[in-house]
Amino acid sequence: MNAVEPVTSPESQPDSRPGMVYIVGAGPGPADLLSLRALDRLQRADVVVHDRLVGDDVMALVPAAALRVYAGKASGHHVMPQAQIHAVLIEHARAGRRVVRLKGGDPHVFGRGGEEVQALQAAGIAFEVVPGISAANGCAAAAGIPLTHRELANTCTFLPGHLADGSVELDWPALARPAQTLVFYMGVERIARIAEQLIAHGLPDNTPAAIVRDGTRDTEDVLATGLAALARLAPAHGPRPGLLIVGQTVRLSPHYRQADTADPSLRAAATPCAHHFSATERASFYRLVDARRDMRHFTVGGRVDDEVLQRLLTTAHRAPSVGLMQPWRYVRVVDAGLRARIATLVDQERAATAAELGDRADEFIRLKVDGVRECAELLVVALAPDDGTVFGRRTMPRDMALCSLACSVQNLWLAARAENLGMGWVSMFEPAALAKALGMPAGAEPMGILCLGPVDRFYDAPMLEIEGWRQGRPLSAMVFTDGAAWASATIAP
Ligand code: SAH
Repeated sequence: MNAVEPVTSPESQPDSRPGMVYIVGAGPGPADLLSLRALDRLQRADVVVHDRLVGDDVMALVPAAALRVYAGKASGHHVMPQAQIHAVLIEHARAGRRVVRLKGGDPHVFGRGGEEVQALQAAGIAFEVVPGISAANGCAAAAGIPLTHRELANTCTFLPGHLADGSVELDWPALARPAQTLVFYMGVERIARIAEQLIAHGLPDNTPAAIVRDGTRDTEDVLATGLAALARLAPAHGPRPGLLIVGQTVRLSPHYRQADTADPSLRAAATPCAHHFSATERASFYRLVDARRDMRHFTVGGRVDDEVLQRLLTTAHRAPSVGLMQPWRYVRVVDAGLRARIATLVDQERAATAAELGDRADEFIRLKVDGVRECAELLVVALAPDDGTVFGRRTMPRDMALCSLACSVQNLWLAARAENLGMGWVSMFEPAALAKALGMPAGAEPMGILCLGPVDRFYDAPMLEIEGWRQGRPLSAMVFTDGAAWASATIAP
């Protein structure tokens, strides 16, 4: 067969026929990383059975008339059991349809393509496997990490970050030997255990290692530094696919930073004041600010690692304040009884607010969520009693204290989002009652109950917009040159 055939002429594709199953690799995300053959099979499909990791722009190539069957698995949840996937493929093929089984990356790399082939063989169904660019290849190319290199690595091993039973039992002594590249699929969540085992078996703890998330996609990001430092820095949680690459070739990536300079937030003293931020750093910052982070729904049973919480609070502590007054305090609520009491206070205030809303009361009550009960971490942020700091505060002393508190919460909010955690600021409570429940000193005023934790999914738009409660105003309605236009601007309330 020729290497490249025209993809538009059916005659040149004798293999593409009804009643067959095409097990097609969709590659790591973008549609232009599909093979021409994959594109061809996709465009002729009657039925497409696809996975979660198949990119949206690949799915956009599926013919409108084709039946789409989602067989995706969110980590830990099998949406469709493997046996049922086999049954669906066989059933549609027997009905004479062209069935494409579309899988992220390559079907035969941690993709259970082999099991599907066995099932089709057993059922006597004709099939074809169309290879795809596996995450290891895609991520390595995108992050500038050669998988092999004549001087640095003569072996490359693809490994599962966890085995079928959830454990990580691999041949650690062999994996800790030098001159090889290790690629862990489904491994980012287990990086602490993987790093611990590799280091315990003799791999130097500063061995270059990278986490590539959303490799080859617009949202790609790469964190590359020494293995031990990387394990400390790895975000606690995240729905995006990630790959862990370990080995000396990671040093060649433009993203690689020596372990001791890897994370400015962990080593503030080492961050030069005149640090010039790179375009990549700048882009990450704007991406973070643009990302939705206000959350009211949390993953039930989620948790935030102590180390992550420490990083978040350190970031909150960096908030600016007039005259260094640092007027805010955080109370971490760990006692379950206390949390329940706080949730009750919120419920009481919600009922009282509804009563004042008149004919919008029902609509308002329907917005209720249980973030205070369900989030992993509950913090109460409060204004400290005035300590008499005067500098720069002759006017608006309390207002400026509030501004500083808000800046601190915003720092926390952004840092939480960077850790892939959601946060919600609940202001619905009677301050005196909350201060009393928390035993705050006289003069302290609670300002917000902050719900923090892993979320199943971030919202696409502000919750109140989604719920049709209110629309945000555009920037142009809020910024005026010299104030001239402000008075005449007509803005809906
Ligand atoms: N058959 C797929 C792998 C399926 S296992 C392939 O060959 O790529 C799913 C794992 O692949 C994810 O947990 C993640 O580790 C990895 N993965 C898939 N796409 C990825 C991407 N774009 N970036 C980073 N990792 C990815």
